[in-house]
Order: sequence, then structure tokens, then C-alpha cells
Amino acid sequence: MSLEQSTIDLLRALPAPVGLNFIDNKAVSAASGEVMPVISPIDGTQLTVLAASDSEDMNRAVAAARRSFETGCWSGMAPRERKRIMLKWADLIDRHALEIAVLGVRDNGTDIRMALKGEPQSAADTIRFYAEAIDKRNGEITPTRHDILSLIHREAVGVVGVIIPWNFPLMIGSWKLAPALAAGNSVVVKPSEEASLSILRVIELAAEAGIPPGVLNAVNGRGAIVGEALGLHMDVDVLGFTGSGGVGRRLLEYSARSNLKRVYLELGGKSPNLVFADAPNLKRAARETAASIFRNNGQVCAAASRLAVERSVYKDFMEAVRAEATAMRIGDPLSLAFTTGALANAAQLAKTRAAIARAAEQGATVYHGGNQLHAESGGFYHEPTILTDVATEMDVVQQEIFGPVLVARSFDTEEEAIAIANETVFGLSSVLWTRDLSKAHRVSNRIKSGVVHINCYSGADITAPLGGVRQSGNGSDRSLHALEKYENLKTKWIQL
Ligand code: NAD
Repeated sequence: MSLEQSTIDLLRALPAPVGLNFIDNKAVSAASGEVMPVISPIDGTQLTVLAASDSEDMNRAVAAARRSFETGCWSGMAPRERKRIMLKWADLIDRHALEIAVLGVRDNGTDIRMALKGEPQSAADTIRFYAEAIDKRNGEITPTRHDILSLIHREAVGVVGVIIPWNFPLMIGSWKLAPALAAGNSVVVKPSEEASLSILRVIELAAEAGIPPGVLNAVNGRGAIVGEALGLHMDVDVLGFTGSGGVGRRLLEYSARSNLKRVYLELGGKSPNLVFADAPNLKRAARETAASIFRNNGQVCAAASRLAVERSVYKDFMEAVRAEATAMRIGDPLSLAFTTGALANAAQLAKTRAAIARAAEQGATVYHGGNQLHAESGGFYHEPTILTDVATEMDVVQQEIFGPVLVARSFDTEEEAIAIANETVFGLSSVLWTRDLSKAHRVSNRIKSGVVHINCYSGADITAPLGGVRQSGNGSDRSLHALEKYENLKTKWIQL
């Protein structure tokens, strides 16, 4: 899709809709009538309001989901029929892609080029992927005794709760919604209070495509109120979550305190990027190093925020990364003149500023950047920042910032590089650059992470899983494996 500034400007001038709940295919206010403000990261002004729901609203949504599941209006539909409706939904998202992308940018500050591709277009592709898959999955017959037939049957689990963050709400939301719905479940979504508007629009389009009432619902509000109500609900069978480790821990507690619902966690990261002197193309490595941490202001779960470079090329490589960072244009995310937009909210900006100050206190050097930008606009902008003279025990090395901050240092040996890679509690993603195939396999086998990129920083494709190990989570989004999270296996024994 070619992007025209004039079309973007027309869409940004439209009044932002009120963020209502969506239950039984109807947009409804919170039962209490309470609302909360939605603040634009572009200029810090109030964009609109959002339903500030409570456990009563959540109970209504879960009851609607349960009712629809038990009637079989979706769960009992032939998979090919679910596929037809989901494909129509994806087409509707594509048709409204720019409108949805602009709404999302006004809510969370991602630059419009990235938002269009990474949000509606990626959500539509994800929905198509699972829709196309679902009528091609067979059950199994096990090799048991000749006088008995044993069947393994996949069935939907029932009601699935989905809690999503503010970064890429459509991409990440669809990684959960699409397999859960394709498998025949009914779903209740709790969008992030920081970025709800685009996902609410996409959920409305699901109803337009023909997803029956009660099958896909959304309840807005504060995480500690409605998120908790969903986590503690006795009638939710599976919870899919993407967000911070702290909230992930709470969800496991909620499960233990309620009905032992299965909880899948996609959490944070502090991903390493190891550059060996024999990298096939150091210029490309420098370009992708900068992109891997500074695009979307580092608000990417798999952002490669810890750089380690072999000493013989360290100085030149750092200069090349600095040049890439300098070339980035940070500003209004809805202006095509800029390449990177705003941080999503005031708290993220404050967290970024505090992390840089703390790193300096602990002995780090600001090698590049370090300052807030465009403060006069009221929006939340920050320079890409590179810190050197860092060490394992520093907070800036151990804690996820989720901002545009890269920590960098040199290493001398392969062992040292591996030790740096594994020095945190996280294990989501990693990157390494070398032309030595044996070294690439040796090192990648020893890095504790769910994803390893070798000589690239990409691979964000729906066909392959994305999941963390250690404190980055459990289970995986994306790929056919994600369907298994939203299905139960039922064994049937039949005497012949
Ligand atoms: P967050 O944990 O603050 O919020 C995520 C969601 O949880 C929101 O919808 C929020 O309302 C809800 N929530 C908050 N408190 C809750 C509670 N007590 N009970 C239930 N729900 C509650 O995370 P965030 O700030 O929105 O997102 C950033 C985090 O997400 C980062 O840590 C980032 O690494 C992580 N993330 C991970 C992945 C991945 O795939 N692993 C992808 C994107 C983001």
C-alpha cells in the first residue's frame, strides 16, 4: 500500500472513538458508567476515554463467551465454515488497514510505516494462517491392541482469556486470538489500557464478518481490576498473556487461587547481540544492530538491547552503530518525514530517563544520545542512546527498559561472549554474527533463548514459533504449534 501524507492527515483529524466494551457483538459502556482518559503519546493531550470496567463487566463477558461456547454456534461449526468467516474478517481488516493503523498510532506512538505493516497487515495475515490451517488438522489413531481402537481427538478448551500489552496490540493480539478462535474457542480479550482503540475496531470487524455473538468479546479497564478479574475467573479455561514478568507472576498466582486454568506467558527480554570479528558483513550488522534496538524506540520484546563486539573490531563497529543511530529521525509518528515515533506513554519515557541516570551513577558512559527530544510538543520522544563501560551487575544490563537504550562492550573469546549472552534471567531472543558455520552452531546451542538469529535480525514470520525460556515465559506464539495451547487432547477407547 502506498502511503500518502494527505490521507494520513485526514484520518488523524477524525475524532477518536470512545473505547467501549464489546460483549455479545454489542458495543457497551462499563456497567458503572466509569471511564478513564486515553492520552496521546504524540502530544500528551487527551485523545478520548475508555470504559473503566470492573469485575461485573468481566463476569458478563465471560458468561457471554461460555454461553456461545456451549451452544456450539462457533465451537460446533465445521472448521471449513469457521475458516470462511475468519478469511472474510482478514479481508475486512485489510480493507480498513490504514484507518486502523492510524488509530493505533494515535494511541501508542509507533511510526505509521511500521504500524501499518506490523499491525493490521500482520494481524490479517495471522488470521488467514490459522483459518487456512484449521480444516487440515487430523486426529490420530494409536497403535494399540487389535481388538481395541484408540483415537486421539483435538477439541477446543472452552473460554480463552487474552491479555495483551500496548506494543503491537494487533500483531500480538492476533497471535493469540486467531489460533484460539480457529480451534473453536470463545474468547474474552483484555486490551491494554494504553493501546486499546485499534484492537477494539478489529473486534468490531469480526462481528461484521459473521463471528457469532459471544464468541469474541472485549473488556477494557485497569489491569489490576479487570485483568485480575479475568485471571481469577472460575469459568476461564486458558489464559494467554503477553506483558511484563511482574504481571505474569500474578497470573500464575491467580490461576493457583482459582481454577488452575492453564496460563501461557510471553514476557520480557534483555536480548544479547554478539558480533564476532569474522561477521560476513559488518556494515549490515551495524545497520541491523541499530534497528534491532532503536526501531519503535526499543519497545519490542525481542529488542537486542545488549551488544557485545569482539575487541579487534569494537571501535569501528561502535562508530558504525553510532552513525546509524544519528541517521534516525525521531518525531511525530504520523508524519512520513520521521522514521521513528514516540514512546507509548509518559511512564515509558520516565523509565527510560531513570535507567540512563542510574546507569551513569553505576559507572556507565553515555557514548551516544541520552536526551529527551521535542519536550515542547508535550509528546514522549527520546534520542537513541548507547551506553558503554557497562558490566554484568549493573541494573541497566540486568533489567528490561523497553526504551531506546543499547548497552555495549567488547569481548575477547567465544567463552566470554557466551557468558555475556547468558548473564541475565531472561531468554527470549538473541543475535550472533559470524561467517564460521561451526562457531555459529556451537554458540547458538549454548545461548539460553527461545530464538537465535544468525547473521540477520529478522525472521518475524508467522510460520515459526516465538517463545521465551527462563523468565521470558513459557509456550510459544505463532506457527502451527500455537494451536496446541488452545486445544485439549481427548483419548477415546473403543472395544471392537
Ligand atoms: P504489562 O505487564 O504492564 O501489561 C500487560 C497487560 O496486563 C495489560 O493489558 C495490563 O492492563 C494487564 N495487567 C496489568 N496488571 C494486571 C494484573 N494485576 N492482572 C492482570 N492483568 C494485568 O506490560 P506492558 O507494559 O503493557 O508491555 C510491556 C511488556 O510486555 C514488556 O515487559 C515486554 O517485554 C513484554 N512483551 C513481551 C512480548 C513477548 O512476545 N514475549 C511481546 C511484547 C511485549
